[in-house]
Amino acid sequence: MRESNDKLSTPIEYLKGVGPAKAGLLNKDLGIFTFEDLLQHYPFRYVDKTKVYQISEIQENMPFAQFKGKLTSLRLMGQQRSKRLVARVYDGTGSIELIWFKGVSMLQKILDLNQEYLVYGKPSVYNGKVNIPHPEMELLEGGKPQGNKLEGVYSTTEKLKSRGLDSKGLHKLMQMLFTKVGREDLPEYLPAKLKQEFRLPDRYDAMKEVHHPTTVEKANAARLRIKFDELLFIQLSLLSRKVNRIQKVKGIIFENLGEHFHNYFDNFLGFELTGAQKRVLREIRRDTRYGGQMNRLLQGDVGSGKTVVALMTMLMSVDNGLQACMMAPTEILAQQHYKGLSEELQDMEVEVALLTGSIKGKKRREILERLLAGEIDILIGTHALIEDTVKFKKLGIAVIDEQHRFGVAQRARLWAKNEDFPPHVLVMTATPIPRTLAMTLYGDLDVSVIDELPPGRKSIQTMHLKDKDRLRIFKFMKEQIQLGRQVYVVYPLIKESETMDYKDLMDGFDSITRAFPLPDYAVSVVHGQMKPADKEYEMQRFVKGETQIMVATTVIEVGVNVPNASVMIIESSERFGLSQLHQLRGRVGRGADQSYCLLVTGEKLSNDGRKRLRAMVDTNDGFKIAELDLQLRGPGILSGTQQSGMEKLKMASLTEDTRLLARVRTAVEDIFEEDPNLGKPEHEKLRQELVLYNKHNNRNWSRIS
Ligand code: ADP
Ligand code: MG
Repeated sequence: MRESNDKLSTPIEYLKGVGPAKAGLLNKDLGIFTFEDLLQHYPFRYVDKTKVYQISEIQENMPFAQFKGKLTSLRLMGQQRSKRLVARVYDGTGSIELIWFKGVSMLQKILDLNQEYLVYGKPSVYNGKVNIPHPEMELLEGGKPQGNKLEGVYSTTEKLKSRGLDSKGLHKLMQMLFTKVGREDLPEYLPAKLKQEFRLPDRYDAMKEVHHPTTVEKANAARLRIKFDELLFIQLSLLSRKVNRIQKVKGIIFENLGEHFHNYFDNFLGFELTGAQKRVLREIRRDTRYGGQMNRLLQGDVGSGKTVVALMTMLMSVDNGLQACMMAPTEILAQQHYKGLSEELQDMEVEVALLTGSIKGKKRREILERLLAGEIDILIGTHALIEDTVKFKKLGIAVIDEQHRFGVAQRARLWAKNEDFPPHVLVMTATPIPRTLAMTLYGDLDVSVIDELPPGRKSIQTMHLKDKDRLRIFKFMKEQIQLGRQVYVVYPLIKESETMDYKDLMDGFDSITRAFPLPDYAVSVVHGQMKPADKEYEMQRFVKGETQIMVATTVIEVGVNVPNASVMIIESSERFGLSQLHQLRGRVGRGADQSYCLLVTGEKLSNDGRKRLRAMVDTNDGFKIAELDLQLRGPGILSGTQQSGMEKLKMASLTEDTRLLARVRTAVEDIFEEDPNLGKPEHEKLRQELVLYNKHNNRNWSRIS
């Protein structure tokens, strides 16, 4: 919604030909409330009416055909149900039959014998002859050249169609709209330089051409301009936020890399850091010493070694007399991190503590007191950490693990932990996000990537097997267990059919305990209907190696680390999404042994299902998998998309327009580089439009949430 005096924000019911009833439907079915909304209801394709065929050229397999000719006969045939209007058109090269089954009596009145018509329709065959059922007819008066255009096809709904607002009806509305909306209502806001660089048409021309194109080239140019603008404002909005943060938000300065950092690096770090880990640590170092606040997203595939980066970053904070915290999405993960970090730091003078929802009463109070007194250096925990009761003496950095869905609200609560400067924030995720999506979802964050696995990792071998291969699978499990390894067997869990999934899991558990009986084997089971304490107990048995097989629903999905486990079996794997499959696979391949992932499916697979399984078998590269996932499922899969303005993409696509997006991003970066506040005269209009865009976006966003 714009300013009320703005013509584009006129309610759609005031457009001639609409009125309150149709307006209601347009609101409801297509989300069209204003003139501007209608303008942004773009055609999803065009029918090409630029070519006029001769009748002798028309063949049954043409998708559409347009031709001119004289109406030489017009007859009503058949009775009642089989009543039809049959016409014949002749153009000197031949003649063809036209046929209508609906609206017959009306058409009979309108059509005139011996007149010239422009006919458009889809050829079909009846009794071995080509005819055109239900063609569009346009009278050619005085031989005036007609046709010669591309016609937009608009999406609509059955209800709207029944009110005359089919694609053609919408097309007519659009024509009406352009008698009301002129060039002055769509003033140009792009700087001339940008228009030249990207060869973009004027804003008004683009809008007009996209609905009523004169040539294919102009339609394409118009579409480019509209995509450009959509992507441009998302990036302007994100990057202006970032510029603002860098300019205005003061951050804590980690003056020195001190004693703890060096002590750990020299004496306790058990391996050589990979090049990627070193690079990321340098980026973090730079972010935490210039006086601004770090807001960094760290992406790295499962097993790429993000934890040690987090640990060393937290030590930077401790070295500067400040605290650090690390938040994990589940209790199990928080406990694992706590255990791991405590062991790493046991011979150093750094105090590590754990705080989760299940730590209560006296113990909790004690931790909170020590935290406030500054006696705890590093606090590990779940989301419980951002609760207001958790007060630090002074928090230098918060690390958020496996949680890219860390929203604006949570971030605000973290910021409030300190009275003066907000802590630095490092968000880590193992769900690789395609570059284009990251630019859009996290465009206001800085992004680091660990794109290198620690040396010596054997890549996981992935195979696709069917239910009928069960005996082979059991045999393979036995061999691996004989070698001293452990095995995961994972079942899907989908909320809607929880009881059925539960049954599948328990059936599977039964057949596994039968095939792997005590006392030679021990099997753990973990699922969502168990009490947390029981889950934890079963998990720990597997972690300690007391059980060889872990049967589970997807609760083990994130982060669990059992390096001795070398086989991941995923049952009904066609029911999992790609990124989930990849995450699960990442639970193995963490030790020195060759690891395996067996994807078990039924016989029947959907097309997408087959693609997902093939991708898993073909590659271990999380980024490739993420790209494909995005293509298969669209960007809506990631939560937080609404906040990013992505739902405003009506024409641009994050999967198809990747190159354009990258160029737009660079262009916007250049603009802010040169003019951080968009204060230069050539950016004046752009700035005003951005203000409107942000206002509009915020309003929509608060409407949704
Ligand atoms: P993730 O990125 O999935 O959180 P982790 O941080 O858990 O991965 O690391 C996986 C394993 O790799 C851990 O056992 C860790 O100690 C080990 N590791 C991390 N970095 C290196 C390295 N540079 N060289 C060898 N092993 C490493
Ligand atoms: Mg991890």
